[in-house]
Amino acid sequence: MSTTTLSPHERATVDAAPHQLLIGGRWVDGGGGTLAVEDPSTGETIAEVADASPDDARAALDAAVAAGADWARTPPRERGEILRASFESVVARADELALLMTLEMGKPVSESKSEILYAAEFLRWFSEEAVRIDGRYAVNPSGGSRLLTMRQPVGPCLLITPWNFPLAMGTRKIGPAIAAGATMVVKPAKQTPLSMLALGKILQENGLPDGVLNIITAESAADVSGPLIADPRLRKLSFTGSTEVGRALMRQASDGLLRLSMELGGNAPFLVFEDADLDAAVEGAIVAKMRNGGEACTAANRFHVAAPVADAFAEKLAARLGAMKLGRGTEGGVELGPLIDATQRNKVAELVDDAVDRGARTLTGGHAPDGPGYFYEATVLAGVPSDSRLLSEEIFGPVAPVSSFETEEEAIQAANATEFGLVAYVYTRDITRALRVSEALETGMIGLNQGLVSNPAAPFGGVKQSGFGREGGPEGIDEYLETKYVAIKLD
Ligand code: NAD
Repeated sequence: MSTTTLSPHERATVDAAPHQLLIGGRWVDGGGGTLAVEDPSTGETIAEVADASPDDARAALDAAVAAGADWARTPPRERGEILRASFESVVARADELALLMTLEMGKPVSESKSEILYAAEFLRWFSEEAVRIDGRYAVNPSGGSRLLTMRQPVGPCLLITPWNFPLAMGTRKIGPAIAAGATMVVKPAKQTPLSMLALGKILQENGLPDGVLNIITAESAADVSGPLIADPRLRKLSFTGSTEVGRALMRQASDGLLRLSMELGGNAPFLVFEDADLDAAVEGAIVAKMRNGGEACTAANRFHVAAPVADAFAEKLAARLGAMKLGRGTEGGVELGPLIDATQRNKVAELVDDAVDRGARTLTGGHAPDGPGYFYEATVLAGVPSDSRLLSEEIFGPVAPVSSFETEEEAIQAANATEFGLVAYVYTRDITRALRVSEALETGMIGLNQGLVSNPAAPFGGVKQSGFGREGGPEGIDEYLETKYVAIKLD
């Protein structure tokens, strides 16, 4: 099948994951043959998984539709118990799942493990939310009649996820859909299908009925998503990925007036004010920039630092990033893995070259090392001119551009000067400034004196071109519920 340099343990881990489509509770081959999954640290094929045809996609939706009525009637506690048991299984198997994720996605195993545990927490959180779906009973303000509201599952969903967080971006959707009593077809990114297939098996082993969750992996996403979005039986599309693809899917979904959740791209500003604890800001910057090697929608894309402390901040950050060990994610001590593919690495290199050509100074990094795999060095650029492309485009790599500001107004203006609005980070010890700036930032989330906002108990999501809808928190299940109102005549 594949020629690779995987160790026997790595080979066994890959082989243990399902490689077929999950449709109606059965693991089946794809009508399109197979698609290759690469290890981005070597560029070698590590597995061939099923390539779904449009007919396979329709069969997956058939299964979701067929399972819908029974699943909607299944007691919430039962739905929650399946999620809870699956949470336990994912945690128990975190090491094996982390290795699998690293082999298909590249990030260090320790980071993969963090993602596995984060992903599992969505299963636990929504196991608890399943039993809190309520309605209300109210007296009509004019008396007489009564108002009753009930919340019901939205119906069959299509869930499309990206490669950067192969499991967590899935459980953020699958968890609430299961809790709400909705059925689904999941389409993971073709670069990282194995983690999602492994999750499907775990949910199945923990009693999820056939057809509730169907998984289709495909070389051409559009070929399988198109027929489903056009199918009048589909009720909801939840998408995490790039803004460009999100817009295209929204246009397609408009004919069927599908319920939509759109978790799209970001361009997070990281603001450091003069009064900030500079060392804490550097620590936060490392998390906000380097988590997932910068391949995160929440990654700090640009650092705006108060002029008096800008040089000190950039130098401290460069010292820390310059010391990070780059290598295959399975090796001990590695802190930065490869980028996902050659296209992504070339884009990062192009953005860095553009900034340097315009006059930015490279404090550390700035190169793609020779050899196999899609590596790029951790990079800090100082004095980045405001017209540099990497200030307005999503970098999606380990590059930290630092520029300075003079006033709070200037900082806010720079932060908001983007079409995106997912998250911003703010470092200051002045409470009134913290709140003033938080109110003025046009984002769905803010990290205040911390470099990480992701939390299953919190509503994750953006504004502007970063999309709409919220995942996680008490809000997360709303995306999978409809509200029905009954007008009751009493007299
Ligand atoms: P992408 O948009 O290329 O792909 C995302 C998913 O959409 C994949 O499953 C892909 O196969 C599918 N897809 C691609 N083209 C399609 C089409 N024409 N029709 C239907 N489906 C299609 O994004 P990516 O490169 O996998 O992920 C990176 C992007 O995701 C970044 O922009 C990042 O910011 C964003 N992201 C956002 C969040 C968030 O919560 N806001 C989280 C993670 C990633």
